[in-house]
Amino acid sequence: MSGGAADGLMYLDHLASTPLDPAVLEEMLPWMGVAAAGNPHAAGHRRGWRAAEAIERARGDVAALIGARAGEILFMSGATEANALALLGGVPEGWPVLCSAVEHPSVLACVGELARRGHATETLPVDAAGRVDPDAVRIDGPALVSVMAANNEVGTIQPVADLARRCRERGGLFHTDAVQALSTGLLDVAAMGIDLASLSGHKLYGPMGIGALYVRQGVAVRPLLFGGGQQGGQRPGTLPTALCVGLGAACRIARERGAADAARLRELRERLFAVLADGVPGLRRNSPSAEGMGLAGCLHVAVPGLDAADRLLDLPELALSTGSACSSGEGGPSHVLLAMGRSVEDAFGSIRIGLGRFTTAEEVDRAGALLVEALQRGS
Ligand code: PMP
Repeated sequence: MSGGAADGLMYLDHLASTPLDPAVLEEMLPWMGVAAAGNPHAAGHRRGWRAAEAIERARGDVAALIGARAGEILFMSGATEANALALLGGVPEGWPVLCSAVEHPSVLACVGELARRGHATETLPVDAAGRVDPDAVRIDGPALVSVMAANNEVGTIQPVADLARRCRERGGLFHTDAVQALSTGLLDVAAMGIDLASLSGHKLYGPMGIGALYVRQGVAVRPLLFGGGQQGGQRPGTLPTALCVGLGAACRIARERGAADAARLRELRERLFAVLADGVPGLRRNSPSAEGMGLAGCLHVAVPGLDAADRLLDLPELALSTGSACSSGEGGPSHVLLAMGRSVEDAFGSIRIGLGRFTTAEEVDRAGALLVEALQRGS
């Protein structure tokens, strides 16, 4: 299988969303048919029990990917909801809240809401590579600190273990939006001392519409929804069996092959960068290149004077993006690039390429040739 599809698009936008792995779909299908109809919370018949068992197996697979226990995983509709429950539901009364300047809008908006509710809030700056310096976290008492594991625009990996330690030393809580880090398996919540972590199915080759929040045993979160007592009342609502099974399968596969995927993607990324750097005068790299500093499949580049959005229109064969799909409606320059000290011109002249599990070397070579041609014309 390749990243290409029947619509003729070469899909290079894996930071926005990953395709459903066919092996995940195969495990989901039996839970979508008539024979699987049944509420997983129905205690009175076999259908309900079987569905509940499948969901609990999936919960175990989600937990195993991040080094957690099954009882520490709550299924959510996605990471937007997980971030909201972690921040709005996880912060104790009166605590200050800190987050990095490069967080996803679903975190930034919650921190804004907490400021409106009277919490002191602070935005942690990042360096030119997009990293938060753990020494910049200056708290003298308990606080809720939220820093993503890896950035969704430039792929920068954050020193979450150091940040979590700092936070814990002051009796605080550390949350990480781990959405982008998990397809290549970069998190161990127990070893890293993380209290809360958000996951999303459609960023690790699982289905859309499902995610999870890891809540370390002993950490209290106040529910945002009220209803039946599902998931201990912390997140009530009927669980979607097929989606939970899909998320579990995706996590199991990520655990099995994440490291191998990462090694292959790193090679493809460098192959593509070499072609672009050679063919496009003035091209600069925004995404970190050093080993362990950036996501394996992410290449984010800027070309001086380029109108990136306009140039993408000349590349109808390629599914790429100029930034984050979640901010694309807003039309302004990327808050991530500005926080990294890039100019507005650079921010509008940037392209994000997200390679993924099914991207082939042939596709990378073809994309490289098409991009060089279009970017030479555009700059
Ligand atoms: N956080 C990050 C870093 C993301 O990239 C995304 C998706 N773009 C989200 C949160 C939101 O996830 P979901 O689509 O599952 O709500």
